[in-house]
Amino acid sequence: MATADLEDLYRDIILDHYRRPRNRSTELDGATCSAEGSNPLCGDQITVSVRIVDDRIDAIAFGGSGCSISQASASMMTSVVSGGTLAAAHEGAAAFQRMMIEGEPPAEDMGDIEALIGVAKFPARVKCASLAWKTLEQALAMRDSTDDGATTVTTDERSPHDD
Ligand code: ZN
Repeated sequence: MATADLEDLYRDIILDHYRRPRNRSTELDGATCSAEGSNPLCGDQITVSVRIVDDRIDAIAFGGSGCSISQASASMMTSVVSGGTLAAAHEGAAAFQRMMIEGEPPAEDMGDIEALIGVAKFPARVKCASLAWKTLEQALAMRDSTDDGATTVTTDERSPHDD
């Protein structure tokens, strides 16, 4: 497929997830753990709730608001990890980070997620795309934690002006 056609396809996939988000819900029955994430550089907010049954993600939901990249990435992330094992979810998060760093498609089939590969060229947008995965990992980490206080993850590891 020609590069321009591929970019059109990727844009269509991203917009489709943005306009018709999968697993978007403010509540998840029987949620085992959840976390909130924010990307202050862009104003993106994501909440991820997970119901874990026997080391599998039985159900997952996300909420929040933000740019099309952040919301589409959350929709894609939930589509990929839903029904899978916790190990697969962690592997997915690692594979996504590699794709963002290297700008190469993931070795394993990650479905629509490959459509976000173009984001790798734009460091500020990488934070938008990564937010859902960071928030998922935070939610999964909360599962084994006794700390039941509010948990928040942020992509803002550095000051906004040192890019
Ligand atoms: Zn954003």
